[in-house]
Amino acid sequence: MKDWLIEIRRTIHMNPELGFEEIETSRLVSQWLERFGFEVVKGIAKTGVVGLLRGKQPGKTVAIRADMDCLPMDEPARVPYASKIKGKMHACGHDAHTAILLGVAKYFSSIPDQVRGNIKWIFQPAEEGGGGGEVMVKEGALENPKVDAIFGAHVFPLLPTGKVGVYEREGLAAADRFTVKVIGKGGHGAFPHLCKDPILVAGHLITQIHSIPSRDINPTDSGVISICKVSGGTAFNIIPDEVELLGTVRSLTAQVREELKSRIEQVVRGVSQSFGVDYRLDYAYGYPVLVNDPEMSKLVASACSQGIGEENVVPVKPAMGAEDFSYYLEKVPGSFFRLGIRNEARGIIHPYHSTLFDIDEDVLPFGVEMFVRIIDRYLGLGIEAQDQR
Ligand SMILES: [Zn+2]
Ligand SMILES: [Zn+2]
Repeated sequence: MKDWLIEIRRTIHMNPELGFEEIETSRLVSQWLERFGFEVVKGIAKTGVVGLLRGKQPGKTVAIRADMDCLPMDEPARVPYASKIKGKMHACGHDAHTAILLGVAKYFSSIPDQVRGNIKWIFQPAEEGGGGGEVMVKEGALENPKVDAIFGAHVFPLLPTGKVGVYEREGLAAADRFTVKVIGKGGHGAFPHLCKDPILVAGHLITQIHSIPSRDINPTDSGVISICKVSGGTAFNIIPDEVELLGTVRSLTAQVREELKSRIEQVVRGVSQSFGVDYRLDYAYGYPVLVNDPEMSKLVASACSQGIGEENVVPVKPAMGAEDFSYYLEKVPGSFFRLGIRNEARGIIHPYHSTLFDIDEDVLPFGVEMFVRIIDRYLGLGIEAQDQR
């Protein structure tokens, strides 16, 4: 299947589409699913696609999910399959996720009579910030038939190809954001006493807000705040009227999430008051914490180990990135795992969202095999046992 998978992945890679605009990718996906003879629902969450293979015998319904969107960035033409579209690039591997899920579909389309229960393929739009996963859930991707368990994977440049990384429970963080607008009173830099300097207030806010995780959160819990954008001022001698700070807040539990939010509110209120300036704080919740079901994570580890050996299935620690797979896991048990793509000999060492990001394409058939093993194990199909006979 490898050549077929590579062709699909490269086709998607060369024609990247941003969140909720995955029209061609979505068409490619639905055409294959239809060719495989599955039931196909299109247009969920705008460009999402759901495929369903109903088994001949009753059983549970398992879903697997891929994301289809790219990132708004240019890809340098280093490889023959580089993006053909300016300002758009698959720099997170979602092209690989889509190809892998289609590979799993192709595999099961060749043995539909062996399927007990149902297998559902969920291809979603807009993982990169658009929350496509949330929309898919809202529009019923987990219903009809009701999904009993869900599995998803993300390629992982920190692990070599051929390895699977498994989280026990928490995998990725809740990712919220805030904007603070400090509203002072501008004037001449030589006469600060006649102004309310928002830049100095912003300076205090930057140090105090960054102190919250170290002083207010239990050191054995995890939380991080980063102020990543500061805007204000126009010249060396003008105190501006306003300064704006924009930051991200990450946490691994709902409790820390609320603690961080309420401390930010308190600090902004207190610092602004002490300097006599006004402020506006906008706080927006983003993706929730991604929490795996430990039993489902064990199933992933065990099913994959059976094929590639225990030594190639490694536990991975939670990270403060975010994933909208968390919305599915809020509704049904499941597990989100990692597929290694690092290959130093081929120069595949670059992080997500880098213009140099690429995957080791050996992950494509490998990923298909891992999903097949997981589905086989979850539905109790006995494909593994047959292979060994
Ligand atoms: Zn990404
Ligand atoms: Zn991604």
